[in-house]
Amino acid sequence: MKVGVIGAGAVGVAAASWLLRDGHEVFIVEPGGVAEGSSFGNAGCLNPSSVVPMSMPGNLPKVPGWLLDPMGPLSIRWSYAPRIAPWIYQFIKAGTPDRVRQQSVALQALLHDSAGVYAPLVKNAGAEHLIRRNGHLCVYRTRADLEADAFAWQLRRERGIRFDVLERDALWQQEPSLSHDYALGVFFPDNAHTVDPNKLIGSLADAFLRDGGRIVKARATGIEMTGEKVTGIRSDAGLLAADAVVVAAGAHSKPFTAEMGDSVPLDTERGYHIIIKDPEAVPRTSIMDASGKFVATPMDMGLRLAGTVEFAGLEAAPDWRRARKLLALGQRLFPGLAQAYAEERLSVWMGFRASMPDSLPVIGRSRRSAQVIYAFGHGHVGLAGGAQTGRLVADLVAGRHPIIPIDPFRPDRFA
Ligand SMILES: Cc1cc2nc3c(=O)[nH]c(=O)nc-3n(C[C@H](O)[C@H](O)[C@H](O)COP(=O)(O)OP(=O)(O)OC[C@H]3O[C@@H](n4cnc5c(N)ncnc54)[C@H](O)[C@@H]3O)c2cc1C
Repeated sequence: MKVGVIGAGAVGVAAASWLLRDGHEVFIVEPGGVAEGSSFGNAGCLNPSSVVPMSMPGNLPKVPGWLLDPMGPLSIRWSYAPRIAPWIYQFIKAGTPDRVRQQSVALQALLHDSAGVYAPLVKNAGAEHLIRRNGHLCVYRTRADLEADAFAWQLRRERGIRFDVLERDALWQQEPSLSHDYALGVFFPDNAHTVDPNKLIGSLADAFLRDGGRIVKARATGIEMTGEKVTGIRSDAGLLAADAVVVAAGAHSKPFTAEMGDSVPLDTERGYHIIIKDPEAVPRTSIMDASGKFVATPMDMGLRLAGTVEFAGLEAAPDWRRARKLLALGQRLFPGLAQAYAEERLSVWMGFRASMPDSLPVIGRSRRSAQVIYAFGHGHVGLAGGAQTGRLVADLVAGRHPIIPIDPFRPDRFA
């Protein structure tokens, strides 16, 4: 078949790569560079342990505190509040213990052995040097903070995620750069990270081009159909003929679903990063600060501090104060960092997570045509879940039984 993929992020590039391996003629439509969307600036974690959805029982009472805390992990641009309200309503509804357990099972299937699922693509691209399979640490300041996350730890145990709890000296030996204000940590030996997400996905895209794929630099504007049959992708570079279309435009996927008759509550949780070039303190692995709710990852370009959730839609200008707050949180985590930095040592970024209220992506066929396949909405785990999603897309295009159950990801689950 001739398959057109809309979007060259982690998901689109992985899907295109698996489709090419299946022998299809494949092109990607992308108006910018490869992996310049959300896939550019994430924390780089390939964490099978991310089986805990964002909406959890007990989170709701914490929200006012998070919103009021200037260092807090959550903010809402008040002008956007009426637009995000229905999404937040669905988010709250998704947080019952039963639903959380179901979401967690689906996440475990999607994220299992994330680095291993990428491995054939990474090997083919000669990009093994961009992956570190050396685990991940989640750190807490107090035992009460750890105990407050008891349900999350129970979920991980139920999903068979391996982890070791480290206390004080054991933790500080494991991670010498860590502040001794953090007395407890949990080490995940099976997690991995990339030292440059943009280069990783860029390398996969280079291999895709080398192996016969095509990237068309254009903005897709719609999907051309004759009855239920797909004939191509409309774009600002004209009509691009295709027998099947994969929608992998991340947070910008909604117009395509509307055109296909699907009502999908996709919105964006904007996130930020700040990078310290040549940092004085470098952790051995990626570290999640469970109280600050951000991740510090040692990368090729420096120490990346990434996280926060901001509800402000796709149009509003970035609020760079949120990236600066990550620097202050990073200085609290690693006392070896300098107290102040010259601007040329820092760089900031904002990206649009494509987020569904139940923390699960949309992977499946459109209502109007079986040849239009959705692959977006991965929220906080789209890098980790990119390769597996790509395999599922290839299964759907080929008419094969999907390698994992995809019913939890069906597009009409909120209809
Ligand atoms: C601060 C932060 C930290 C994160 N940390 C992690 C992490 O550690 N691990 C993890 O797994 N995930 C993480 N994520 C989430 C992860 O980055 C995303 O889930 C993932 O990058 C989504 O990939 P994608 O391909 O779906 O979307 P994107 O990377 O956003 O790609 C979508 C592409 O579609 C293109 N596009 C848009 N509209 C059109 C159109 N009309 N026509 C053609 N192309 C179009 C865009 O230009 C873009 O290139 C993080 C996100 C943020 C913001």
